[in-house]
Amino acid sequence: MPEFTPRKLDCPVCRHGFESRLVTGFRIGEKEADFCPRYLDGNPLPEFLHVCPQCGFVGFEADFKAWDDAGRVERVRTLLNGFHWQQGQALLGAERFRRAALIGIYAGKRSAEVADLYLQATWCSRMEGEPDEEQKNARRKAVKYFELALAAEEFSTDDLPVVHYLVGELCRRLGEVKKALKYFARLDELDHVEPWLLEWRDRQKALLKE
Ligand SMILES: [Zn+2]
Repeated sequence: MPEFTPRKLDCPVCRHGFESRLVTGFRIGEKEADFCPRYLDGNPLPEFLHVCPQCGFVGFEADFKAWDDAGRVERVRTLLNGFHWQQGQALLGAERFRRAALIGIYAGKRSAEVADLYLQATWCSRMEGEPDEEQKNARRKAVKYFELALAAEEFSTDDLPVVHYLVGELCRRLGEVKKALKYFARLDELDHVEPWLLEWRDRQKALLKE
């Protein structure tokens, strides 16, 4: 099992204070081609997101601080009302990440952060054995927000090779062959692409030709 430490959090939307727990230890084996980690003793990802039992707000520890932007609080509250939250309701990992992504959009998070939340939703969806369609929906949204983040130049130059590989792989998994090839090909034009990434790219690209 992953290791945890208790932590008191205050909800930025409804101000409710509650006890949650922080993940303080876990072990990773290798990673899958879309960077989904293979955890050796249980998936800690859901626990990185905390859920306010009072209003259903979902976020990382860093999201649980007072927001001074009243408009943002109001936008997120309106979104949460639409979820028809029941006090103390439990959420599995994939659903936590999907909600956190949506909340992130309403709260004005950068597209790169939203993309990452949708990506992790696909990983949890797979580990939790949800129907394929759920994984695909989250994957499509991850691609959309990665593309918005690329267009907005949110990534550092150092991160561009990994991001292009990843978007290529997500498109491959969605059956979008042309788009996958386009992103994989970009690795030949970028600087400082690490050899392991080119190996992964070649391996995943070869799957497209079968
Ligand atoms: Zn709350």
